[in-house]
Amino acid sequence: MSCFDQNPKILSELSHDTEKSNRLLRMKSVKKGFDFTLMVAGESGMGKSTLVNSLFLTDLYKDRKLLNAEERINQTVEIIKHTVDIEEKGVKLKLTIVDTPGFGDAVNNNECWKPITDYIDQQFEQYFRDESGLNRKNIQDNRVHCCLYFIPPFGHGLRPVDVEFMKALHEKVNIIPLIAKADCLTPNEIKKLKDRVKEIDKFGIKVYQFPECDSDEDEEFKQLDKELKECTPFAVIGSNTVVEARGQRVRGRLYPWGIVEVENQSHCDFVKLRNMLIRSHMHDLKDVTCDVHYENYRAQCIQEMTSKLAQDNRMESPIPILPLSTPDVETEKLIKMKDEELKRMQEMLNKMQQQMHDKDQ
Ligand code: GDP
Repeated sequence: MSCFDQNPKILSELSHDTEKSNRLLRMKSVKKGFDFTLMVAGESGMGKSTLVNSLFLTDLYKDRKLLNAEERINQTVEIIKHTVDIEEKGVKLKLTIVDTPGFGDAVNNNECWKPITDYIDQQFEQYFRDESGLNRKNIQDNRVHCCLYFIPPFGHGLRPVDVEFMKALHEKVNIIPLIAKADCLTPNEIKKLKDRVKEIDKFGIKVYQFPECDSDEDEEFKQLDKELKECTPFAVIGSNTVVEARGQRVRGRLYPWGIVEVENQSHCDFVKLRNMLIRSHMHDLKDVTCDVHYENYRAQCIQEMTSKLAQDNRMESPIPILPLSTPDVETEKLIKMKDEELKRMQEMLNKMQQQMHDKDQ
């Protein structure tokens, strides 16, 4: 039996958010609805689509065309967007999944993350333009709030392509590394692999950092927060089928030697991942996207605009027209200087005209 016909309970969980702080803000969001963009990246066959379907209890990949080995030799990375509107008990979630098929699949994977970084930058650029335009109240926010990066369970830790991918993206998006297909590993192997993935900061890479827990939170909340942080990077299992285990119908994978349950916390970290994504940390992921990653992009854009402006002025071109209307202090200074220069020229012109007029008389 497929589990897609089950009634999704995800959204009611959103309205049960128990965090004391930001409660008002959440109430407002519950009314307005949530927008969330999630990117999934990793080699093909790593279980990305199965996990997305398991997380959101929806079948987003019905029409997917799988390529054979020959077709994948020169494959380039594609960006495919799936959007689902989920509504339950009056709470709306507009979920956009950005899929990146083809990543790491070709024979030559040199810079295979480029289409992905370009896509993230394009969304920032669009937001920057919209924010500088007239209709600022109704901006469609397509910025990527989180990227789940699937690390294979085989091998001995991070591969060069994993490091290079995360290096290229960590300053643009919240990366959450996942150990894919965790049912292929014993608990000891999972621990070892988690330790190796945690060494990612040796490469100067900063994946998504869970925020500090407020000191006035209750003990239960603090304990849950501690457990969540301790079990990263999450080791996950996905499945699109429902099986019978301990007299109950659960989502799992049936093997000749037993059943692996997706939502059993002693089998994998799926529940922790789902809770943090759609319940406890969705707002933080959006805030970090806006306050850190987008701000970095914006500051860089303004800096580029300012130096271009200064260059134009040095070349004594006519007054440059700003492409976007968010002048910062430097830009305003330059505009003021140009205004004063114009004023001086106007005064000189007036003087010359006066002299000519006097001469004529
Ligand atoms: P994608 O190409 O990354 O989207 O991978 P898919 O979700 O299509 O999965 C590829 C294959 O791996 C399918 O046969 C899935 O049934 C299987 N698979 C998905 N998730 C898991 C998992 O957690 N464990 C195991 N053992 N297999 C999985």
